[in-house]
Amino acid sequence: MSEDQKYLMVSNQAVDDGELVGKPPSEVSLEDLKALGHPQSLTKAVRAKCLDCAHHESEVRKCVQYSCPLWPFRMGKSPFHKRSKHNKETNNV
Ligand code: SF4
Repeated sequence: MSEDQKYLMVSNQAVDDGELVGKPPSEVSLEDLKALGHPQSLTKAVRAKCLDCAHHESEVRKCVQYSCPLWPFRMGKSPFHKRSKHNKETNNV
């Protein structure tokens, strides 16, 4: 099976006119997904995208684009989980 056959399919949407489109990830085997070498968590994927965008760890850390949807997650962790835990502890006092 070629790489294209693993990850692409002919669109079933008339508007795409038979164009090749990416398969839904749920239709690609885990083995094939892992072979692509993509991060296996959303936060790691965000971190990888930020490194791709800013080209260096220090530039990701200093990123000033706070309106970017990825900005809160750019260090590879979710600040919202930490805050939720903190808020629970604060509310239990
Ligand atoms: S937060 Fe957005 S703008 Fe900043 S490095 Fe990540 S992807 Fe790029």
